[in-house]
Amino acid sequence: VISGDWSKKSAQEASHFGQIRIAANSEESGRYTRTPPQSEWKLDPQAAYVHMCSNETIGGVEFFWTPDTGKVPLVADMSSNILSRPIDVSRYGLIYAGAQKNIGPSGLTVVIVREDLLGHALPITPDVFNYKIQADADSMYNTPPTYAIYIAGLVFKHVKALGGLQAMEARNRAKAKLLYDTLDASAFYSNPIAPECRSLMNVPFWLKDAQLDAAFLQGAQARGLLQLKGHRIVGGMRASLYNAMSLEGVQALVGYMKEFEAQHA
Ligand SMILES: *Cc1c(COP(=O)(O)O)cnc(C)c1O
Repeated sequence: VISGDWSKKSAQEASHFGQIRIAANSEESGRYTRTPPQSEWKLDPQAAYVHMCSNETIGGVEFFWTPDTGKVPLVADMSSNILSRPIDVSRYGLIYAGAQKNIGPSGLTVVIVREDLLGHALPITPDVFNYKIQADADSMYNTPPTYAIYIAGLVFKHVKALGGLQAMEARNRAKAKLLYDTLDASAFYSNPIAPECRSLMNVPFWLKDAQLDAAFLQGAQARGLLQLKGHRIVGGMRASLYNAMSLEGVQALVGYMKEFEAQHA
């Protein structure tokens, strides 16, 4: 299921190992502004699995519902929204997530796999990617990245101390609402994503006049508001509101945005 650049990449990658079929695709003129609703999905009941990306980091498009794929296992790339809110893990056959967004340092990937799916790897699968072998070895078939795991453990404790994933969701919703409300109230900035699909984690936005992009970024940098340049595929700006970003950080951003608009609109 293609809802953005990451799921598109996944489909391409999977095509090296088997026959792939696109069950749904919300790409319109090279852009993604929504998730494809389940009514548009053309599922193959014989498929080995259905793959989706729960949050498209580049496009800012997020699933807020869990697809029903019947007996076919659902596989989700949750790299950029895992730990941002509660999810029903039991609805998925396999969840995977690179640690570097909400969990901890890069170099670690979390995989949550239904036990009955273990042991079905292709014969060509390298042992390091064979989840049966990894599970049997307690995830230590090779030396694991111990420091990254240690930091992830500290982050899990920190998230629990803040009230767990329900508390993270409340924080993340408040942060995203502040920024989306600011974008919607302005004719100077825009975000074209369908409101019900707007990511809580990654908010791409565009200035009305792209010639002001450089000045916007420069002013932001001067105020300590960093890494706002949009992904090169979509351009514009992107504010990533991962768990580690505070509400105060978003308040500082919208304060700057209003100031910049008043000066340049
Ligand atoms: C970040 C990310 C990845 C992995 O990114 P790398 O930087 O290449 O490790 C995969 N999927 C999604 C949805 C991501 O956000």
